[in-house]
Amino acid sequence: MILGAGMSGLCMAIELKRAGVHDFVILEKSAGLGGTWWDNRYPGAQVDVPAPLYSFSFAPNPLWKRRFADAAEIQAYMLACAQAQGVLPHIRFGTTLRSASFDERSDRWQLCTAADEPFDAQFFVCSTGPLSRLRWPDVPGLNDYRGRRLHSSRWDAGLALQGQRVGVIGTGSTACQLIPPLAQVAAQLHVFQRTANWVLPRLDRPYNALDRALVRLPLYARAVRAFWFNVLEMGRRGFEEGSFMRRAMLANAARHLQRQVSDAALRERLTPPYALGCKRLVYSNEFYPALMQPNVELVTDAISRVTATGIVTVDGAGQLTERPLDVLVCATGFDVQHSLAEMHITGRNGQTLDSAFADGPVAQLGLTVAGFPNLFLMLGPNTATGHTSTLLYIEPGVRWAVRAMQEVARRGLRSIDIKAAVMQAYNDGLQARLAGSVWAGCRSWYRSDSGRVIAIFPGFTREYVKAVEDQRFEDFVFA
Ligand code: NAP
Repeated sequence: MILGAGMSGLCMAIELKRAGVHDFVILEKSAGLGGTWWDNRYPGAQVDVPAPLYSFSFAPNPLWKRRFADAAEIQAYMLACAQAQGVLPHIRFGTTLRSASFDERSDRWQLCTAADEPFDAQFFVCSTGPLSRLRWPDVPGLNDYRGRRLHSSRWDAGLALQGQRVGVIGTGSTACQLIPPLAQVAAQLHVFQRTANWVLPRLDRPYNALDRALVRLPLYARAVRAFWFNVLEMGRRGFEEGSFMRRAMLANAARHLQRQVSDAALRERLTPPYALGCKRLVYSNEFYPALMQPNVELVTDAISRVTATGIVTVDGAGQLTERPLDVLVCATGFDVQHSLAEMHITGRNGQTLDSAFADGPVAQLGLTVAGFPNLFLMLGPNTATGHTSTLLYIEPGVRWAVRAMQEVARRGLRSIDIKAAVMQAYNDGLQARLAGSVWAGCRSWYRSDSGRVIAIFPGFTREYVKAVEDQRFEDFVFA
């Protein structure tokens, strides 16, 4: 059973088929394929790593229209991969999983959908993505608002914003992408920024006929991919204090701000109060210019409350100001810590995943959780990256999970479970590294409510890939 038809679910399905396994089902709650790219179809949605690296290593795409592909292009790519590999017939769209319990007598997962349809599976791959459970802002009065309110990851394609007074809460990667197109149509756009972010130029360009012809040559496609892999890996150095790369990135961000924002007071308000890299970097050439448009206002006073008709802010002197709004867009991100909470997953001895994750999610290399045999998390705890393509973390995890399933079959056994002590030691080491890192220094979706860094892998991509590939079966209990 694979849960979720996003990038990791699709990759898992393809890898299973390549291994000759066709007896699997993918449950997908949405009506279409794409996962995050199905959900996030707000205006301006684009990937922020170069497309040659945001594609599977085994499926280079000669059709990318530009270096940074948009959501529709990525979805089309995913659909093409799914069709080419015969994955589509395995997917049950519009199906939500309600619960999954490991049955210790049969060593199998018993699953049940929201429509009470039961499933029985030997292996359960949870590929629902860390950024799937949307987060509304915790501001008083949000539910009192009587205008149109929507979250960026549930966009309404029919929403007409011409002539409207629009408010956007948030200035993360999502907001910075959707603000420029909204600024073009809204009569008035108020951008509510709680924390300014580091913004770097996006080195985008359209791909021309020559690019598309060359990329059909396997050697060229591999070289382009290797080039971007290495460039982005160098960017990882930027998260290390005192590094040359960090100084270069800081200088680049300062130049970008200086060039694009002529007003010194506005520049001041757009200067981040935290170390570069602590939150996800924003790559945009359009965000700052959008803020300079006469119909756009950057609001940096704190939100006091939402009313039936708009947002009230409070300035440093306690002065309240209300801005009336027709539409309120919350680009306020995702609840990563509780992303699996709705699934009601129960492992050995009746232990729920919720209780195992009470202190924040933990897993072995983000993949396996002690006490939850035959469960594989895709992009689980501490597998996110702030510097490169998340697909580079999905593929090794998928390959290893299939290898583990094959090992269970080879031994003539029924289950595999990571040893608790191994998982504990791995996570202690990880947290020791993360404690002094740049990611521990500010609030972000990388951290749990208690402050533990639960999302980020602290090393370079090669280190993660090697650690996944080098996992020893002695560290697991087979039964
Ligand atoms: P996010 O990075 O978590 O940003 C949420 C924004 O909402 C922040 O600016 C946050 O301010 C603000 N916010 C939250 N609660 C608030 C409140 N109560 N009052 C005021 N402001 C509030 O979420 P995101 O922008 O959706 O991005 C999430 C991740 O998705 C990114 O980091 C990235 O990994 C991925 N993403 C990727 C792409 C891409 O590939 N191009 C595009 C979009 C997203 P604070 O900073 O003060 O908390």
